[in-house]
Amino acid sequence: MSRPLVIGIAGGIGSGKSTVARALADAGCLLYDADAEVARLYEREDVLATLRDWWGDDVAPLGQGLDRARIAGIIFEDPAQRERLEGYLFPLLADERAALIERARDEGFPAVVIDAPLLYEAALDAECDVVIFVDTPRDERLSRLRSRSGWDAAELERREKAQLPLDAKRERADYTAEGSGSRADMARHARRLLEDVLNRPAG
Ligand code: ADP
Repeated sequence: MSRPLVIGIAGGIGSGKSTVARALADAGCLLYDADAEVARLYEREDVLATLRDWWGDDVAPLGQGLDRARIAGIIFEDPAQRERLEGYLFPLLADERAALIERARDEGFPAVVIDAPLLYEAALDAECDVVIFVDTPRDERLSRLRSRSGWDAAELERREKAQLPLDAKRERADYTAEGSGSRADMARHARRLLEDVLNRPAG
């Protein structure tokens, strides 16, 4: 069985990365959803036990699961604690990705799609054969984020500053997906793009 192609999705906040990734999954790819994988790790009892060990029982009161706000506070205040958490979680996530790619190979999926909010920042592009940049005008991203999470322009700017600049992401990517228009437009475009990606010349 040949190795599946690994496709990473990059783009601005609210550009529609997850929407494009889901469209590619509907078109036959196997999806790696980083947010969902992190959520699954945070349900594992061994992971919760480690975090209680580091930061006290209040971070995951017994029977209540993880207090995400408390964890966010700890790692926001202290970069060393953020590094500690990432140093623990990232290898576990890498194992999950490797297992998913194995599964895709065994089950004959043509491609695995990696939907991770910080693909480049977390160096996940190194695992990808191609990266698709989802291109969506800022106004449209802001209006989506406004209705999803009530963000204003300042909030979007604040969060974007913590990421690699958008132009750098666009430049480093291999393909561009249309992120504006309706969800149906995006899905149609993503399906066409997938054909191009799977049929691209080798090398
Ligand atoms: P990202 O993964 O890049 O943050 P999402 O795919 O989660 O982006 O989309 C951001 C928000 O915009 C979500 O609430 C999503 O439902 C909404 N959205 C995505 N695509 C469209 C679209 N074509 N039209 C309207 N809203 C959209």
